[in-house]
Amino acid sequence: MHVFNRKERPDPDAAALGADLPSIERRGRSAVLRSIDGLVGPAGVPAVAVAALRKTYPGGVEAVKGIDFEVRAGEVFGLLGPNGAGKSTTIGMLTTTVVPTSGTARLAGYDVTSQPLLARGVSSVVFQDAVVDRPLSGRANLELHARLWGVGAGTAAGRIGELVDAVGLTELIDRPVASYSGGQRRRLEIARALVSDPRVLFLDEPTVGLDPRIRHELLDVIAGLRTRQEMTIVLTTHYLDEAQRLCDRVAIIHQGTIVGLDSPAALLAGFGREILEFRVSGSADAAIAALRDRGVAGSDAFAVGARVTVPLHEHPPTDALAVIDGEQLRVSEIATRSPTLDDVYLHLTGERIAA
Ligand code: ADP
Repeated sequence: MHVFNRKERPDPDAAALGADLPSIERRGRSAVLRSIDGLVGPAGVPAVAVAALRKTYPGGVEAVKGIDFEVRAGEVFGLLGPNGAGKSTTIGMLTTTVVPTSGTARLAGYDVTSQPLLARGVSSVVFQDAVVDRPLSGRANLELHARLWGVGAGTAAGRIGELVDAVGLTELIDRPVASYSGGQRRRLEIARALVSDPRVLFLDEPTVGLDPRIRHELLDVIAGLRTRQEMTIVLTTHYLDEAQRLCDRVAIIHQGTIVGLDSPAALLAGFGREILEFRVSGSADAAIAALRDRGVAGSDAFAVGARVTVPLHEHPPTDALAVIDGEQLRVSEIATRSPTLDDVYLHLTGERIAA
């Protein structure tokens, strides 16, 4: 089940799409959902298939400008980009809360626009906002959600026990949610989303707002979900480490467009093993030109202001230092480090993902 509260302004178009919901309430949501329970898309279809998907909000903001990607069953797929890149809008369209302006999106073969109930029936979402009921215990929240989804009591009890264990809430599950910390609540939200045994789980910025230790605990929980057979996870994040650690493949989003899509390893491979970085007083372009002339820097070296980034590929850092000395470049803060997805993003867009 999807709860239609969003961190952003509501999409007026979504009212039209959600128009079928009141009639579902009258007929009994669980009956409708039960009737599609067990239905799966045709064999071999991608878990998520997005083609030429576009969203222009009323007022003309082009949040998503025609994106294409497919996610295989069982894959963990990340949408990585800074705030405002269009990640939440994309998740909104995939979870039927935002109406696409054009293009198509299918979940397990079901079109989110023409078959929204079926698309929702095979998916679950954890948005940034809390949706659990604070006075109730964690267990009561999960049981309520199972009933709404028409999951039989016996199945629900077993599944809830297993999920509570998987998200590490066994000790707390019978306490009121109001007593949970932010990280514990987020883990409960994930368990709740899994009660319906979705084929596709959407996580919108799952660790945003959590302190670093709790973030890492939650990342472990999410990484642990990978072992769930056949479940596909699509997550949005502006944290590079999160994308690198969790995702099989990452789509890098910039201003509503996908500018890179591959496994983190493949995205990073182009930079070689080490990157040299320094700050230069004087012309950064001249510094790069000198390093290129001597064969140390390739076409992928770049500067943002006075900060120069040089993927070293097969060169040892001493080669670059020799050029810097020989050319008497005035540099400071010189360091080598491994490439990150931020370098990929910076190289592709000329901007950093502030994280
Ligand atoms: P992200 O999730 O990557 O931060 P969003 O999808 O939230 O990006 O936003 C993409 C763009 O669309 C931003 O410019 C944002 O201000 C705009 N936007 C998001 N929601 C709405 C809305 N309901 N109405 C108008 N503009 C919106």
